[in-house]
Amino acid sequence: MKAIRVTATGGPEVLQYIDVDVPEPGSGEVLVRIEAIGVNFIDVYHRTGLYKMPLPFTPGSEAAGTVERVGAGVGDLKKGDRVAYAMVRGAYAEYAIAPANLLVHLPDSIDSKTAAAAMLQGMTAHYLAMSVHPIAAGETVLIQAAAGGVGALLVQIAKMLGARVFGTASTKHLHIAAEAGCDVVIDYTKDDFEAIVMSETDGKGCNAVYDSVGKTTFDKSLNCCGLRATLGLFGQSSGVVPPFDPSRLAKNGVFLTRPSLAHYIHTREELLDRARELFEWIGSGRLKLRIDREVPLRDVADAHRALEARETTGKVLLIN
Ligand code: NDP
Repeated sequence: MKAIRVTATGGPEVLQYIDVDVPEPGSGEVLVRIEAIGVNFIDVYHRTGLYKMPLPFTPGSEAAGTVERVGAGVGDLKKGDRVAYAMVRGAYAEYAIAPANLLVHLPDSIDSKTAAAAMLQGMTAHYLAMSVHPIAAGETVLIQAAAGGVGALLVQIAKMLGARVFGTASTKHLHIAAEAGCDVVIDYTKDDFEAIVMSETDGKGCNAVYDSVGKTTFDKSLNCCGLRATLGLFGQSSGVVPPFDPSRLAKNGVFLTRPSLAHYIHTREELLDRARELFEWIGSGRLKLRIDREVPLRDVADAHRALEARETTGKVLLIN
C-alpha cells in the first residue's frame, strides 16, 4: 500500500510517498481502508517537529473509510462498516490502524469526505462552544480566525446558541467570516479588533474569547475578556504565545485555558455524543462545512504548503 512517511522533520518536502506493508490490527484495533483524510494544522506541527513525534512516522490525524479487518476483542465493528476517527496518528495512508474505541459509525446521511472534513474541526468547534465555555443565548463572544476551518464552524454554532459574535479574519477572508454568520466582522490585519470590540460592547468586553491564532492576537484577546470571561487559547497558527504574567488575568478574573480535543473526547460516551450531535447538525443543514480542495495523497506536500501560506478557506482533504 502507499503511505506518507516522515524520517526527518522539516518543510513539506520531508513528506515522502512510499510503499509499505499493510499493517495488521492488534487486540482492540481495527484496520481501516481509508477513502478521505482531513489535513489539519496539527499535521504541520508534527511535520516541523513543533509537536514531537518518534521518527519515522506517518502523519495524519483524521480519516474516514470502511473497516477492512478487526483485531481480537473487537465486537461491535465488522468488515464493510463505514467509520471515521480523529486524533489517531497515521492517517496519511491507504490503510491505517485505529483503536476500535475511537471509531465512530457513520450515519447514511454522511459520506466519507464529509466525515473526514468534519471530525476534527467539527468536534473542536463543538467542545469549544458547548464545554470550554458553554455559550448561553445573549452572550457576546469573540472568535479569532473566524474564516478558518474551526473558526467558521464555531461561528455557526455560536449563532445557533444565540450569541452575538465578533469574528476576525484577514482581508481576503472577510466574506467567509460574514457568510458563517458573524454579527461584526473585523479585518485584524488592518483594524484594531480590541478597540472595535470594546467600543461595540460599551467597554464591557466579551463572555468568551476563542483564540487559535496565538502569538499575534493573544494580548488583545485577553484585553477583550469581560468579567469572569473564558479565554480559550486552542491553537497558535501565527506562532506560540510568549510567556506572560498570570496576574494579568486578575483584571476581570479571566479563566484562561489551553484545551485540546483529546481532553473533550476523553470517554467513548463523550466522543459518541459529540459526533452524533455534529452529524445531526450537518445532516440537517444547520451546520455547513466548507471543503476548500481535494488533493491526491501523493500531493500532500502541496496541501501543507497551501495551509501554511494561509491560502485555504475551509477543509483540505487528501483522497485515496
Ligand atoms: P485553518 O487553516 O482552517 O484556519 C486557520 C486560520 O488562521 C487561517 O485561515 C488564517 O485565517 C488564520 N491565521 C492567522 N494568522 C495565521 C498565520 N500566521 N498563518 C496561518 N494562518 C493564520 O486551521 P484550523 O481551523 O484547522 O485550525 C486553526 C488552529 O486551531 C490551528 O492552530 C490548530 O492547530 C488549532 N486547533 C486546535 C485544536 C484543539 O483542540 N486545541 C483542534 C483543531 C485545531 P486569516 O487569513 O483569515 O487570518
